[in-house]
Amino acid sequence: MRKNFGMLCLLGAALLVLPARAFPRQEAAGIVAAPVLRYEIWVELDAAGKMLLGKEEIVWTNPSREAVPDMLLHLYWNAFKNEESAFLREARVESIFGGGRTPDDGEWGWVDITDIRLADGSDLKPGLRFVTPDGPENPDDQTVARVLFPQPVQPGESVRLLLEFRSKIPRTVARSGYYKDSFFIAQWFPKPGVYEDGKGWNAHAYHQNSEFFADFADFVVHITVPEDFTVGSSGKQTDVRVDGSLKRTTYTFRQPMIHDFAWMADPRYLKVERDFIADKEVTPEEYRETAALLGLPVEEVKLPDVKMTLLIAPEHKRQIERHFRALRAAIKYYGLWYGPYPYETVTMVDPPFRTGSGGMEYPTLFTAGTQVLTSQDILSPEGVIVHEFGHGYWYGLVANNEFEAAWLDEGFNTYSTGQVMARAYGPGALPMVFKGVPLTWLLRMPKTFDFELDRVAAINTVRYDPVTAWSWKFYNGGSYGANVYMRAATLLRTLEGLLGGQTWARIMRTYHMRYRYKHPGKAEFIGVVDEIAGKDMTWFFDELFDSTAAFDYGVAEVASVKVPPARRGVFDVKGTREEMTSKKIQEIEAREAKSPEAEAKSEYLTTVVLRRYGEARVRGDARVNVLVRFKDGTTEARSWDGQARWARLEFIKPVEVESAQVDPEGVWLIDANLANNSRGVDGLRRNVVKMMTQLLFTVQSFLHFISSLS
Ligand SMILES: [Zn+2]
Repeated sequence: MRKNFGMLCLLGAALLVLPARAFPRQEAAGIVAAPVLRYEIWVELDAAGKMLLGKEEIVWTNPSREAVPDMLLHLYWNAFKNEESAFLREARVESIFGGGRTPDDGEWGWVDITDIRLADGSDLKPGLRFVTPDGPENPDDQTVARVLFPQPVQPGESVRLLLEFRSKIPRTVARSGYYKDSFFIAQWFPKPGVYEDGKGWNAHAYHQNSEFFADFADFVVHITVPEDFTVGSSGKQTDVRVDGSLKRTTYTFRQPMIHDFAWMADPRYLKVERDFIADKEVTPEEYRETAALLGLPVEEVKLPDVKMTLLIAPEHKRQIERHFRALRAAIKYYGLWYGPYPYETVTMVDPPFRTGSGGMEYPTLFTAGTQVLTSQDILSPEGVIVHEFGHGYWYGLVANNEFEAAWLDEGFNTYSTGQVMARAYGPGALPMVFKGVPLTWLLRMPKTFDFELDRVAAINTVRYDPVTAWSWKFYNGGSYGANVYMRAATLLRTLEGLLGGQTWARIMRTYHMRYRYKHPGKAEFIGVVDEIAGKDMTWFFDELFDSTAAFDYGVAEVASVKVPPARRGVFDVKGTREEMTSKKIQEIEAREAKSPEAEAKSEYLTTVVLRRYGEARVRGDARVNVLVRFKDGTTEARSWDGQARWARLEFIKPVEVESAQVDPEGVWLIDANLANNSRGVDGLRRNVVKMMTQLLFTVQSFLHFISSLS
């Protein structure tokens, strides 16, 4: 999903060259395991009545070692049925923060299972019950239903269910629904939860701040629409049948190994097709560099061709080439870095203005979103296209549980969107728009990389929640967004800085390819980090992902004093007692001043005090590095273990100090206050953080500007 301004630009992947390390071979790319599920769905759109009529066949194979007596099914559209659903109760809570929208009268949506039986005819409808797996008991939340099988399904055994359903399409809520005669149909069919061995069904209610989780499946979907409608869909179109007498057309789409299926229908839309031809997009040199970076044979990083389809509103047709350029960049860099795109097709949808369906990912299909007025500088829609395509790699292919670990999708994808945008486009202007007009036309906006914006947006959210909280348990939508998108991305970038570019590139590639189609969690990712880095990095996740402790190291004091030729006081020297007075010291100094040789030997004591302002600590083999600069241009590098609240460094040098800086390499992007990282003898060195403070200032000015107008 798209969040605010997190995804605009990109930064040069600084790929440091580190000593080569043994790198485990990738599993071959491509689709491997047989899925747990098969669907065949026949759905008819009643455009005038805003209804869907569906028939669905589900074949589910018990993947566990236990007999399973029941099945949990998601019925997501019941979240929009009334104000007592979990989703709309949570929207009410969110409304105190200015978020959460409830449908207007007459705009509700729902889904009814009108018939459900096994292939042998046994009727399961009488045993169908709504359940609230996340508690509390709420009879008005009908987003998860349980059916009981007449006999438990044994391990490895398959069960074939035949359903009929009838749905009222909502006026768009949470990106699904209609606006006038335009339809975006997502989360629409009854969909089983994920059966986890030893844990049972994983199926959560539809929550305001949460996305989804489902098993991989082979889909065949037949979509019947009025004959003048254009249809875009997940999967590959394999058949079209026109029924002239009823003025309806049925399109068939097929796609193996995806875990969700979405489609759109609109009578006005333009459909444009292009090919991503790998040999035109990637040079042999780029393949060689990528293979060397990842430690893989060139053959393993080669990309396949992909059929690209764009469905775009006619008023946006001048932006067709911008859409395809961004999509080609995304297919190329996600493919080179993380693994080849394994599907034949990708479809992007520019949703109608005001539908609210933009910026959302589905397998092999995503929605972007643009405007009639748009500036080349803002890199929108480009950032959204790259981001939503990119979800296909994390949400889509790795497929973590978004209810329970949203950061493994949004955080990874915010991070990787930034990398692709920086490589393909460089920095962009802040994507701020007022009443449809890009503010770059009115104000001079600084150009920034995504990681800078992400850091600014994320840095204080740690006060509310850890990144790894479950999606609907965050303080509010703002904390959910800033944590799982921007703070997670900022932490991943910090980890990249700590481990080095080549190690990091291999970690991301290994994690992606090893866990394609496997629903990994945090432990699997940490396992790959430790394996490739060759050390235990668990502390980084404990301290920064799971905790709400702020990370903030800084320089508190920097000073130099001249070392006097002698110290004052009473000294016993060779049996006599003498007092060294200030006057005697002044006399020695006066003599030395006349002797350039003695003067040249004078020394200064420099004291630097470092502080740990936050509760979070570096651990493992990480250290807080310090660089002290002296007025003759020399420098001294030190490191501190960072465990105590402060540390004092002392230097005796023939010159005074100029400044001291913690983290001079800029690794700790997660540091809450970069302004205290560097201090000169005159105080904080603002120039070091000029870029970050200028950005904060711009964002704040924009917010003031908006609030003064609206
Ligand atoms: Zn997203």
